[in-house]
Amino acid sequence: MTYQDLLTFSPSPIQRLDAPKWAKRGVELWVKRDDLLAPVPDDPFCGNKWRKLQHNLLAAKAARHTRVVSFGGAYSNHIAALASAGKHLGIETIGIIRGEEVDNPTLSRAKADGMQLHFVDRTTYRCKNEAQEVARWTQQFAPCYLIPEGGTNARALLGCQQLAKEVVAQLDQPPTHIAVACGTGGTLAGIIQGLPTSTRAIGVSVLKGNFMRKEVTSFLGGTYPNWDVYEQFHHGGYAKRSAELMAFIQAFRAQHGIQLEPIYTGKLFFALEELLRQGVFPSGSRVVGIHTGGLQGFNLP
Ligand SMILES: *Cc1c(COP(=O)(O)O)cnc(C)c1O
Repeated sequence: MTYQDLLTFSPSPIQRLDAPKWAKRGVELWVKRDDLLAPVPDDPFCGNKWRKLQHNLLAAKAARHTRVVSFGGAYSNHIAALASAGKHLGIETIGIIRGEEVDNPTLSRAKADGMQLHFVDRTTYRCKNEAQEVARWTQQFAPCYLIPEGGTNARALLGCQQLAKEVVAQLDQPPTHIAVACGTGGTLAGIIQGLPTSTRAIGVSVLKGNFMRKEVTSFLGGTYPNWDVYEQFHHGGYAKRSAELMAFIQAFRAQHGIQLEPIYTGKLFFALEELLRQGVFPSGSRVVGIHTGGLQGFNLP
């Protein structure tokens, strides 16, 4: 693919689900298929990682950088996406990975896509966003374009604002709710910024703890009234799965022909069904769940 493709690839399709539980309550459920937003089918450079990298890669090119450095955990979809983007665009990529050297499908794929991996201990990794550390990494790999962990920065938010606008433009009336799974919270923050005030953004945290609201607030850099974060749908924590969650993912695929995975999108759609049951969506609501991709790390059953 070319850099021009980064500007012309979207929109991804949006589809309404035939979901009796939702219809019974007078609520429409839609899925924005950003999992299909990829240069080739099943590419890890897809979904919200595509949205978040898009403007960063264009900025790297504008500054004539041919090397991009970023950070992530050993199962990071962001790392896999960046590696693949580097392969497609012919740029060098370097991944700074938290923890001891390991091998797993995400990292072997990144390596096969040409990424150079550097493993750093957890203490060093924790300091990665401090000015001194950033300067050190930048210098070590100079000249390079640096993207923070999980790919979240102002340019990433811009891509996610466009995602929100794309959804609104694709429907004949704006949705009442647009929902997304939160890891760093960057995608949610961008969506909030891109929405009309009549649409409420919903974030479902996939991590245990109650810091996500604060994280999202810090990315927003302003006051937006129309959003909520739910923190009770983590199923034990990041990358933890419950039997209930796995059963839900199977049933969702059987019913709608759409594959979810247990780290992000499974938890999102599971949460939406629970919120429906709790009466969070009044009759007449149209809820759009974002399928952010992420299937690369998950071996399909
Ligand atoms: C990374 C990721 C997210 C979370 O995005 P953040 O911007 O970090 O909140 C959601 N879904 C999928 C599939 C992801 O890979």
